[in-house]
Amino acid sequence: MLNFSTARVLVIGLGLIGGSLARALKQRDLIDEVVGYDLNRAECELGLSLNVIDRIGEDLETEVRQAGLVLLAVPVKVMETVLATIRPWLREDTLITDVGSTKGNLVMAARALFGELPPGFVPGHPIAGAEKSGVGASDSDLFVRRKVILTPLPESDPQATLAIARLWQGVGAEVLQMDVARHDEVLAATSHLPHLLAFSLVDTLAHEAENTDIFRYAAGGFRDFTRIAASDPSMWHDICFANRQQLLTQIDRFSGGVARLRDAIDRGDSQALLGIFTRARSAREHFSRILARSAYSPEQQRPARFLVRPKGKITGTVAVSGDRSISHRAIILAALADGITDIEGFVDGEDSLATLQAFRDLGVVIEGPHQGRVRVYGVGLNGLQPPVGPIYLGSSGTSMRLLCGLLSAQPFASELCGDEALSEVSMQTVVESLRLLGAKIETGPGFRPPLKISPAELKSPAQAVKISSAQVKSALLLAGLYAEGPLCLEQLGRSRDHTERMLGRFGCAPEQLNDKLCIEPGKRLQATQLRIPGDLSLAAYFLVAATITPGAELTLEHLGINPTRIGLVELLRLMGADIELCNAREDCAEPVADIRVRYAPLTGVRIPAELSRLALDECPALLVAAACARGETCLSFAGAETPLSNKRLKLMAEALQQAGVDISITDKELRLSGGEIKSGVVNSGGDPRVAMALVIAALRAEGPLEITGCESVTSFSPEFSDLARRIGIALFKEED
Ligand code: NAD
Repeated sequence: MLNFSTARVLVIGLGLIGGSLARALKQRDLIDEVVGYDLNRAECELGLSLNVIDRIGEDLETEVRQAGLVLLAVPVKVMETVLATIRPWLREDTLITDVGSTKGNLVMAARALFGELPPGFVPGHPIAGAEKSGVGASDSDLFVRRKVILTPLPESDPQATLAIARLWQGVGAEVLQMDVARHDEVLAATSHLPHLLAFSLVDTLAHEAENTDIFRYAAGGFRDFTRIAASDPSMWHDICFANRQQLLTQIDRFSGGVARLRDAIDRGDSQALLGIFTRARSAREHFSRILARSAYSPEQQRPARFLVRPKGKITGTVAVSGDRSISHRAIILAALADGITDIEGFVDGEDSLATLQAFRDLGVVIEGPHQGRVRVYGVGLNGLQPPVGPIYLGSSGTSMRLLCGLLSAQPFASELCGDEALSEVSMQTVVESLRLLGAKIETGPGFRPPLKISPAELKSPAQAVKISSAQVKSALLLAGLYAEGPLCLEQLGRSRDHTERMLGRFGCAPEQLNDKLCIEPGKRLQATQLRIPGDLSLAAYFLVAATITPGAELTLEHLGINPTRIGLVELLRLMGADIELCNAREDCAEPVADIRVRYAPLTGVRIPAELSRLALDECPALLVAAACARGETCLSFAGAETPLSNKRLKLMAEALQQAGVDISITDKELRLSGGEIKSGVVNSGGDPRVAMALVIAALRAEGPLEITGCESVTSFSPEFSDLARRIGIALFKEED
């Protein structure tokens, strides 16, 4: 085994990048000696006086022979010459790396020189820099939290790669690996092309006769965009030729994009123009989140706790944001409609945004969301465009099931994928139901995503397709819009009917024939105006808060009261809650009302399986009501759903047990005796609905309650904490 060592480092080319690495290694005391060598002696002397290096390398041959690691930090066009010069002096265990901005040219030159490449050769490229050159501009923190790409070759010894990776990590960098061709392709698009555009824009404007005025009045946008045109011209000249082929490809792609923009402006095609801008803007936002190292808000990642003081005076009139389930359907049907649909009350939670972004990927122009308002430029039933790559749906199972139905009927192939959690969820029911229509869907092992969908002519089975879940029903209804004939579904039990109602709103209501639901294919959807009703499953927490707090009186405005969603309201009333539905009306083809709640003493009840199932989302809130009720509450379950298999129910029961509540769970039922809620620390297990329910439970605790695992509450419901405070709950958030 070769013994690689980074104890003595020779830096050839002591400019900005070579000098910065030398300085960083020395300042962090990571190696025994850094020697600097540069054609320009003055750079070396400046480097020595600035304490960038330990000494100047006088004789290159001696220095190369003695070095553990040789770092090439010269311009890309001279890398080959330097490599040819030092080749005879390299030992088998010498580590050799570089910092060049292109990799393919260097590796090709090295292969021509060496034949078989030495095991210690591992090319690299720090994605860090500055507009200045020379050792005088070197900075020991230049690589902190910046990426360094290593491109190990088949001949590279893994120990050599490891040693070089550790060196970069030691100066604060994050090390990635890529193959050489991929590196050059990625960098051509993300670094080389933007530099070229900045140079070109400034050069073009500088040629104008009135250029002084143009530059004098140039605003922030011009300055931001062209900052990188101040970079070293000779370095960029070299990079253009070193990465010629990849750069030409990227220039052609970009020219195509500019031509499309020009054409849209020329034709006065504002929809095409808005499409480009809105897609770009949302891609930019997504990209900023990735840079912040988080799929969504970086804030969510840090552990967070809620501290809640008991009692409080629960009063006021509030409105919660729009219903999640309805928000998904509004975007989908508006995209398929003819004309422009304006939506109000759209909830910009992670899941509904995933659906919205998916339709942008399918070529639909969507403006917003801005304060709950979204404008969708419908493309008609047959107007979706093939996406350029897989459609990413984050953790939204709803988006995946609904889109799977719709896309299985399109004349193009598509792929649906999600984050780690969604990739673990089986899509068996929806995939098998759609296959009955002839859909061509391939899945990962165990019916898990990604879902690869191929074009297929969908049939209408002679027998009605049996369905038990609202999401599978919705997927089939969407596919049914494209089937060869009417598609009939047989519902096993009651499930949410938002898709049917929303289809009706767009002029395509499915027909209810006895116990069957039938949809006709080919009918056009007409654009409309939508105001999405408030989300009852979020309002549930505030309903319970008012019900259990003596003296409370609260009004929740414009809430959806769809009969398939008001299980919790019915149960609370059964327990004695004082809940009044006022001003009942219809919005979005959904029943809506303002709900007034006053404090009322509750009594425990027996809840049959049918009702327990309908209130499953709101179960954590229901258990809080039960904990504050007199006597025992018992929830029964039937079928596949058992209290023991439901993770949320188990977490909630455990948390209430920590607060001294008497609960027992079996396979078939959950029993809870109302009584005192103790103060102290309880753990929500990271489930946002459990955390929100515990905030409400704290209102009746004997002292302050500290709730851990609350980090996901903000992403789940950005408004929850503010609303809770607004109605009078003394809630404080603490982050670790
Ligand atoms: P620089 O001009 O600051 O430094 C280059 C140094 O190499 C100069 O001091 C020069 O005298 C010396 N040199 C040139 N030919 C030589 C030779 N034959 N032998 C010895 N020394 C020689 O440039 P830089 O910005 O430090 O760039 C160095 C390398 O880093 C380039 O390959 C560049 O592609 C890469 N890089 C630069 C940046 C950036 O933003 N500047 C970022 C990442 C990577």
